[in-house]
Amino acid sequence: MNKHFELVIDGKGEAGAEACFDVINPATAEVVAQCPCGSTEQLDQAVAAAKQAFVSWRRSSDAERRALLHRIADDIESRCDELARLIVEEQGKPLALAESEVMGGVAWTRYNAELDIPVEVVEETSDKRIELHRKPLGVVASITPWNWPFMIAVWHIMPALRTGNTVVSKPSEFTPLSTLRLVEIINLHVPPGVINIVTGAAAIGAAITEHSFINKIIFTGSTQTGQHIMRGAAGNLKRLTLELGGNDAGIVLPDTHPAQVCEDIFQAAFLNMGQTCAALKRLYVHESQYQDFCERLTRIAEQQVVGNGLDEGVNFGPIQNARQFDKVAKLVEDAKQQGATVLCGGEAIKGAGYFYPPTIVANITDGTALVDEEQFGPVLPIIAYRDVNDAVARANASDSGLGGSVWSSDSDAAKEIASQLESGVSWVNCHAQIQPNTPFGGCKMSGFGVEFGLEGLLEYTSHHLLYVNK
Ligand code: ADP
Repeated sequence: MNKHFELVIDGKGEAGAEACFDVINPATAEVVAQCPCGSTEQLDQAVAAAKQAFVSWRRSSDAERRALLHRIADDIESRCDELARLIVEEQGKPLALAESEVMGGVAWTRYNAELDIPVEVVEETSDKRIELHRKPLGVVASITPWNWPFMIAVWHIMPALRTGNTVVSKPSEFTPLSTLRLVEIINLHVPPGVINIVTGAAAIGAAITEHSFINKIIFTGSTQTGQHIMRGAAGNLKRLTLELGGNDAGIVLPDTHPAQVCEDIFQAAFLNMGQTCAALKRLYVHESQYQDFCERLTRIAEQQVVGNGLDEGVNFGPIQNARQFDKVAKLVEDAKQQGATVLCGGEAIKGAGYFYPPTIVANITDGTALVDEEQFGPVLPIIAYRDVNDAVARANASDSGLGGSVWSSDSDAAKEIASQLESGVSWVNCHAQIQPNTPFGGCKMSGFGVEFGLEGLLEYTSHHLLYVNK
């Protein structure tokens, strides 16, 4: 596999002006590749190129941009194998999951290609016509995290391009490689300056936040960094879409058939080794079924094959980085100290790599850090409840409001409870299901704005009302 990477600025590949940094494979703790590191001067050049390219790109036709997104999707698809392996090496997830990440990127790209950007006729009479148009914003910066590096970059970049904006991408310093390749691919199809990428850590992110020629930031990451971005973006009133952390609750109603839901609950909680903003992070089970759910979920956890995501048969990878690994281990240690019972896992796996087994924690309740905070790792606390109204109150007693779910054999009853959850999305008998045509985003401190669907696309535009007196 080609392990040479460059920034893309104004259509050209470039070395980083700062010293390269290592990208670490979390399964081996070895270096995958050296990543070029951009300077703030290179960021300025990338933004200037994007600003210049916007002048003609905004005038490109709708048909042209549609066709182009389809060609980019074709190109990504034809390189699925290489991209998926790169994602495994830098991120750690099992190969099959990385393949679905790439193919998800293809699906989202095609969906954006096919969306119509509406022109709404607000009023039409014999003497006047009022039309509502949508105009691109200008230079959009995308700042991405390390959990789904490729797919989230696609989520940010494709709607921006589709609506006629130009882009500067800044991937996470932990997982920049698949995004560098993605931008290389897109750059084969678009005029110079339409897509640019500058790598680096918080300092480049902060420089993006304050840059006066950037018109919008689409950010997926932690709430704390989202707050920094919001403060920094005030200078030129950047538009923001902030997809931040969550601490999603799942509530299992007492009539639920455990055999029918436990596998789905497990997958929802441990998707991507639990490193998913809208994963199920705390499970409330009625006391009458508590024991049964604990036992079944433990059995499923024990069946996972933990290892290097490139190895045959492995379906559970490492935690992506050492800092997150330490955080997860500390939360579990703290829960033990508070008297919780670890039913399986609960100890880091010795050896190279950041391996932590799927861990189920019982006899735990709200007020423990593992329940109250987003663990963002392979651990699920299971909490017993007696009264469903109390479970809903506990689910809502959180600053986060990304997703939540209710599980039951009576989907109407579950829907009624689900509608009481304070979250951007409430699922019934599933969790963490997202799709390109469905607006997704959080409330409270999980952020604001949505991605996906027409509503998500229109966040890359501003209103332009044409009021014509005939
Ligand atoms: P994590 O702590 O899990 O890495 P972050 O929210 O800090 O999550 O990181 C997500 C993205 O935000 C990364 O690309 C990171 O480099 C970037 N980032 C970190 N700090 C800042 C900041 N102060 N301003 C802008 N971006 C930042």
